[in-house]
Order: sequence, then structure tokens, then C-alpha cells
Amino acid sequence: KERTLAMIKPDGIYGNFTNKIKQVILQSGFIIVQEMMVQLDVANATLFYSEHSEKSFFPSLVKYMTCGPVLVMVIEKTNAISDWRALIGPTDARKAKVSHPNSIRALCGSSSERNCVHGSDSPISAAREISFFFGDVSPV
Ligand code: ATP
Repeated sequence: KERTLAMIKPDGIYGNFTNKIKQVILQSGFIIVQEMMVQLDVANATLFYSEHSEKSFFPSLVKYMTCGPVLVMVIEKTNAISDWRALIGPTDARKAKVSHPNSIRALCGSSSERNCVHGSDSPISAAREISFFFGDVSPV
């Protein structure tokens, strides 16, 4: 079994998509090992997305990610990392509506920035992101 970090971003929370997204997670065979609602501050958001710090959209991304609470979840199943990425769909929610109409971003997101969910993209980032929010040991 594998674990990954799933996050419902502020637009997902404010759009009241939390229950729908959790339903998709559970119906897809994941278990939710841990969850926590957090308000990111600018420092946290900058650190979490540090790989994008040179991108032109970075200031806007930090503003978006700090505009309200996020729900972070450690979710577990076999192939959790790639299966969760497949469920959320392409980064640009507007394109997702065309190419992956059943994806979570197509259903709940609205743009290339406001795409309602996050998923770790590799085992290394999953480990980093899980410990970012939940510490190095993941008590269950
Ligand atoms: P995430 O890492 O959040 O799961 P991702 O891997 O699909 O998303 P990345 O390329 O890592 O996408 O970008 C991180 C986040 O930055 C995106 O989820 C989105 O919110 C924002 N973002 C990405 N590209 C753009 C863009 N061109 N314009 C505005 N915001 C963007």
C-alpha cells in the first residue's frame, strides 16, 4: 500500500465540494488515514510551493492558497499517488472540463490556478508533503 497527500484547496472548501470530493476518495478505494483543516500563511504556502517560486504565477498562487483554509488528508491504497493524480485530472480545470469531464478538477475547479485540489506527484513529494503537514511519523 502507498500513501499520498490530498488537499482540498480554498476554492474547494468555499464551494462546498468537501463532501463530494471525500465521497470520490472513499468510493475509489482509498482510506483516509489522517486529515486536518489548516489555514496556510504566506510563509507556509511559499515553502509548500517553493519549486514554483520563480514562476510568474507564484505571487498569485500564494495569495490563492492563503485566502482561506485547506483540508489536507493522508490517503492510502495501492498506487495511491498515481491513482489520485488520475482522479483529480489536468492542472487547468478549464481544459479538464473538456478532456477529462469526470475528473475532480473538471467538476469543482475553475481555472489553471483555481483547480480545487492537490495531489503529490511522486513518492519523494508525497513523503515531503505528508511530513510537511503531519510530521515525520504518521501516527494512526
Ligand atoms: P498541484 O501541485 O497543486 O497538485 P499540479 O501538479 O497539477 O498541481 P503544478 O504545475 O505543480 O500543478 O502547479 C501548482 C499549482 O500552481 C497548480 O495546482 C495551480 O494552482 C497553480 N498553477 C499552475 N500553473 C498555473 C498557471 N499557468 N497559472 C496560474 N496558476 C497556475
